[in-house]
Order: sequence, then structure tokens, then C-alpha cells
Amino acid sequence: MNDPLVHREIASPNWNERQLPISMVVLHYTEMKPVESAIERMCDPHAEVSAHYCITEEGEVIRLVPEEKRAWHAGLSYWRGHRDVNSASIGIELDHPGHALGYRGFADAQIEALVPLLNRIVLAHDIPRANVVGHSDVAPARKIDPGELFPWDRLAEYRLCLQRPEKLELGDPFDNDGAFYLALERFGYDITDGHKAVEAFQRRWRPERIDGQIDGQVRAILFQLLLERDRGIAR
Ligand SMILES: [Zn+2]
Repeated sequence: MNDPLVHREIASPNWNERQLPISMVVLHYTEMKPVESAIERMCDPHAEVSAHYCITEEGEVIRLVPEEKRAWHAGLSYWRGHRDVNSASIGIELDHPGHALGYRGFADAQIEALVPLLNRIVLAHDIPRANVVGHSDVAPARKIDPGELFPWDRLAEYRLCLQRPEKLELGDPFDNDGAFYLALERFGYDITDGHKAVEAFQRRWRPERIDGQIDGQVRAILFQLLLERDRGIAR
């Protein structure tokens, strides 16, 4: 291990071989305190969960599973046609109380440790910005992490994920809910549970109101995201 961005290695037994090349990063919160409990769980063979990295609120980066192996963090998930998200992704757990233990903003030191690590990962594996996602994006019916207070805008500043569209085009292309869901699926989401998928989209892209309702603003944001991807501004 010669990665200056990794401070400590605690080898988890919870991994197997990848079936797909790496093309995504999934961000999580641990929803467990203290961080030692979360690490213990991710190293417990009976728990059958893990991640490649865990970043403490103090900014310590701990590697649990080598990147070339398949860690077990996403569970039943879907993104842009892939159902085996674990095989396609690198999983990063952020030490955090989560919604269950008192939801709050993410520590600066933690995000400052995440940025260079994510930058290294994205460059090393040529990961599209549109594939740096939250657990809630790939499992909208089950998961809400890392949640509406996660600072995606800070990652976007470094071009490590897609930016929330600011200038929205006029006009509303999705004049009915069916068209909106098709567009949502095309962007990447599993729309099996439509309401949950809309909530997950809002949590990531319009966290000021997460109600699962398809309103004009969420339609415009999704349209803009797809436009920018299709125009090759993002991929
Ligand atoms: Zn998660």
C-alpha cells in the first residue's frame, strides 16, 4: 500500500471478484457511531457488508477492500442499465450519524479527505462524472444516504460529479408523468417505485423539497441534465 491518500489499512474479508469493469463511485454514510463500530461491522464476515474506503469525520482515510475487488456496499441496486452495482463501483463510506442518529452536515475535514481520494479514483478509472452517485441514487426504494445535506456542490467544483444545472432551458418537455419517468430511467434511475425514484432525484438535485411530486422545477432540472449529457458537456 503506497497511496499517500490512504492513512490506514484494515483488511475486510467481505469481498469477491468483480464481474464488471469499474465505472462508478457510490457514496454512503455509515449511520453508526463511533466509527470503530462501523469498521468492525464492515470487517465482520457474518455482516456481509463492506466498502473500499471509510473516511472518518476527522478526515482519516481507511482502506478496507482493494479497489480491484468487489466490495459489498450497494446491495440491490441499479444504475444506467447495471444491476450489479457492486461489480461496477468503488464504495466509499463516510463516518456519519445518518438520519437515524441525528442528521447533520458533513465535517469539513471529511470532505477535504474525500476530494483528493475521489479525484485519484475518477482519473485512475476514467469514471464519468454522471456516475459519481449516492446510495440513494442507485437504490431509491431502500436508501436515503448520503442525504440532502451532502455537499455535492463542493465535489462539482472540482468536476468530480455533475453540477446541479443553474440555467434551465425554457419549456417543459415532459408534459406527462410517463414521459418524466422514462427520462428519469434514461438518466440512470431505477423507476420500479416511481414515487421513491422521484424522491431520490430530488434528494440529489433539488433537496429543498423532497416530496416525490413531479413539479415543473424537477422536470426542468432533469431535462437540463439530459441535455448536457447528450451534448457531451458531461457524460
Ligand atoms: Zn449506503
